[in-house]
Amino acid sequence: MESFPQSVLDEILGKSDIVSVIGEHVALKRAGRSYRGLCPFHEEKTPSFYVQPDKQVYYCFGCGKGGNLFTFLMAVEKISFAEAVALAASRAGVAVPQFSAAGDRRRDEILEANRFAAQFYHETLVSPAGAQGFAYLTDRGIPEETVRSLLLGYAPREDVLAAAAGKRGVSRESLFRAGLLNAEGRDFFRNRVLFPIRDQRGSILGFGGRALDDSQMPKYLNTPETPAFSKSRVLFGLETAHRAVREQDFVIVVEGYFDVLRLHLAGFANAVAPLGTALTDSHLRTLRRFTGNLLLLFDADDAGAAAAMRSVAAGLAAGFTIKVGPLPRGFDPDSFIREYGKDAFRTFIAGSQDVLDYAISQLTRTYDLRTPRGKALLARELARLFSEVPDEIERDEYFKALSKRLDISKELIERAARLPEAPERPAGQQTVSAPKAEDLFVETLLSHPSYWERAFRLRGALTPRIEQVLACAEKCRTDGQTVKPHALIAAAEDAGLADWLSRIALQADTTRSSDQCEQIFRDCVRRLRTQRLSAEVAALRQQIRQKRDLGTPYEEELRQMQTLLADMKKG
Ligand SMILES: [Zn+2]
Repeated sequence: MESFPQSVLDEILGKSDIVSVIGEHVALKRAGRSYRGLCPFHEEKTPSFYVQPDKQVYYCFGCGKGGNLFTFLMAVEKISFAEAVALAASRAGVAVPQFSAAGDRRRDEILEANRFAAQFYHETLVSPAGAQGFAYLTDRGIPEETVRSLLLGYAPREDVLAAAAGKRGVSRESLFRAGLLNAEGRDFFRNRVLFPIRDQRGSILGFGGRALDDSQMPKYLNTPETPAFSKSRVLFGLETAHRAVREQDFVIVVEGYFDVLRLHLAGFANAVAPLGTALTDSHLRTLRRFTGNLLLLFDADDAGAAAAMRSVAAGLAAGFTIKVGPLPRGFDPDSFIREYGKDAFRTFIAGSQDVLDYAISQLTRTYDLRTPRGKALLARELARLFSEVPDEIERDEYFKALSKRLDISKELIERAARLPEAPERPAGQQTVSAPKAEDLFVETLLSHPSYWERAFRLRGALTPRIEQVLACAEKCRTDGQTVKPHALIAAAEDAGLADWLSRIALQADTTRSSDQCEQIFRDCVRRLRTQRLSAEVAALRQQIRQKRDLGTPYEEELRQMQTLLADMKKG
């Protein structure tokens, strides 16, 4: 998330009236301390969308979407976080503050260094020094015109960047901040073909580098995280693709640089690629500004299939309509088009699978549908996957289709979707659901901020979700602010986490006595600790089983297991 100090976000929120802003989009009626209306994010006849002015949050009990003023503006106006902050600031009459000038300067400095480096590496590529890189690109079928228009580059084996930069007035510090020099002061990219990675406006945020020698690891190397570049946010090809995505109202998501280039060259301009990851919430938020339709074309290997399934889950939860084109084994979009041509590819994408068929075909590779147990596990996993779909009518359609395809009643599928994950639990332990303890724990923190200190001391001992919350809280606190619900929500990069926090903030019971709070807090800590320990025990048990099957020693795991079990007893 762009870095705005918490104090500034607070000032904007403090001077904004969340009820009147949301009231422009939703007819709100007073209901106790909140306001209620029909949710703008899903179809409904009875209002389940609440706005709470004291806490500056909204939450829909129907579809689970929630957040603060900024996330609301992002969603309804389809704008970025920075744009939402600017919009809210101008409405509230808050002047563009000093700080953002400093943040912008740092970013500008990085973009400047990147611009220089892109030009330098490009000139190297088209000079005799870049012959190996140029030959490689030619070999991969990239025409010179594309090499020039996209400013593809070559980073030589030696350290050359700093000296060249000095001559053009670009400092070593800026190269370092841009991630172009590593900690030892050497060139970060060496003997690689470089792809500048741009935002939709064309600013170069960072680079992706393809190794030229087989011995070089890793094969693909990206710019490290900088204030301008984050792997979980950027999409290769977006600058070229965003207009086509909007026009055609769908985006083709592929895995690699060469896939994007090949598709753009073949006239499929609406293709982008994340950098070696599945789609994240941040990617999806960016794409949502242009379309609600995803076509996923991941490689037909196991890594590709796993990335596709993760992207399917994230995309469904973000409300996208998804199709998946499983390519024939051994092909990626680049090699497919080079082998069969663009017409065959057009036919192929027209025949891409509906997400439901794809999910079933993928999961039947893991679960044996012929056995009752396999079918049950498959149904449960699919039910959970589609239970994330925010629109309830759409979700219902998926459940109907699942029911038909699996020949299981829709009621059973709906019930399976609601069942919590069944963690492996040592016998004799009380069964309190962890999600409930997580809710209560965070509720206590929100309604009684004095507990944050104690929560921070428990870092590493509780559940992954609580760790995420503590990490967000840490971000709010670094500005010397107390942790407020809306600030915490603003710091949550993961949309699912923001929704969850909004619900907790809205439900938080502030009327509890301090004794009750203390009791609840201790109780939650105990349950969450146990939960974490039993997850670790389950994982160890799994490792031990595998090692035993393989006949390898597992004393170390046994020892760890004993320590864990002893810890649990101490509980
Ligand atoms: Zn809703």
